[in-house]
Amino acid sequence: MRAIAKTTPGPGLALIDAPIPEPGINDVLIKIKQTSICGTDLHIYNWDHWAEQTIRPPMIIGHEFVGTIDRVGANVKGFAPGDLVDGEGHIVCGMCRNCLAGRRHLCRDTQGVGVNRDGAFAQYLCIPAANAVHVDPAIPLDVLSCFDPLGNATHTALQFDLVGEDVLITGAGPIGCMAAAIARHVGARRVVVSDVNPDRLALASRMGATHTVDASREKLQDVQRELGMHEGFDVGLEMSGNPRALDAMIDNMTHGGRIALLGIMPDAAPVDWNKVVFNMLTIKGVYGREMYETWYKMTAMIQSGLDISPVITHRFHYRDFEHAFALMRSGKSGKIILTWDD
Ligand code: NAD
Ligand code: ZN
Repeated sequence: MRAIAKTTPGPGLALIDAPIPEPGINDVLIKIKQTSICGTDLHIYNWDHWAEQTIRPPMIIGHEFVGTIDRVGANVKGFAPGDLVDGEGHIVCGMCRNCLAGRRHLCRDTQGVGVNRDGAFAQYLCIPAANAVHVDPAIPLDVLSCFDPLGNATHTALQFDLVGEDVLITGAGPIGCMAAAIARHVGARRVVVSDVNPDRLALASRMGATHTVDASREKLQDVQRELGMHEGFDVGLEMSGNPRALDAMIDNMTHGGRIALLGIMPDAAPVDWNKVVFNMLTIKGVYGREMYETWYKMTAMIQSGLDISPVITHRFHYRDFEHAFALMRSGKSGKIILTWDD
């Protein structure tokens, strides 16, 4: 089969021929239809510090996908060849306290598909059946291939009650834009999205932001005044991974405001803890997706009219992956799809 892999330590990726993986008794073999490119894949391509510490080449990368079941292991029930599936990219140990309590997203021994083991940028992917997820075939394939990051947006956005609330989202990357759409869908009043990239802010507007803020030249205090807000944002969703965005968020929350942090900060990010203390802010870190409550919620929201399709801006055949990664690096895209028909 053809696959996109990190073959040696260092920048770049290669299109390789690899054997089709052999499913174990508890595994499913998935024929990949479409994948989408995640920021993580770009980190791996670029071979930054995180990638150097984490990735052990040779390894096929990628973890956002949709495909059909090709074969199942002898123990597998509930999946049959031809079933349309997505997959949860976090493979958990099943034995730690959190796993045993059903809190699998909190497993301390998580292995990442396309990070710690071969991934989905290939014609076939083998994962445990427990990680395959049946999907509604009425949902477009483009949208299904983005369920992994939509899950990050859903998991974060639904941490706190948004109904009638004024929500601040810092970072209008694909995940911030999807979170804006979710916040509107579930009934937030104001959905204010900040970024430093005008293309991304335009995308946020198309996705349902009620107001966008160019953080490179506008102050959130001024925006609040302009919008007639007096007490600050009720809920903050940090989706930029930029310490300055977090600082501005903490500075603009209502007393008792709640913040969900998804963005991954480059290093230790300074926080004015006295603002957190005196304003009684709640700050909650968010990782991955809940298995499988997040999958249930995002499916239900799509089925009830949540539209994330504007976030999908480009499509390439897998053979053109170099162009896709160059576009991704330029910041002039939303989600980029790779198609895997032969
Ligand atoms: P992305 O890099 O595409 O988007 C981040 C956006 O933040 C960019 O558009 C960038 O221009 C913007 N930004 C930069 N500085 C800013 C500032 N000062 N104020 C406001 N915006 C600013 O990333 P993404 O794929 O949308 O993911 C969002 C974040 O979530 C990333 O940090 C990513 O690493 C993280 N992430 C975390 C998890 C998790 O499980 N915790 C999972 C997936 C992604
Ligand atoms: Zn575990």
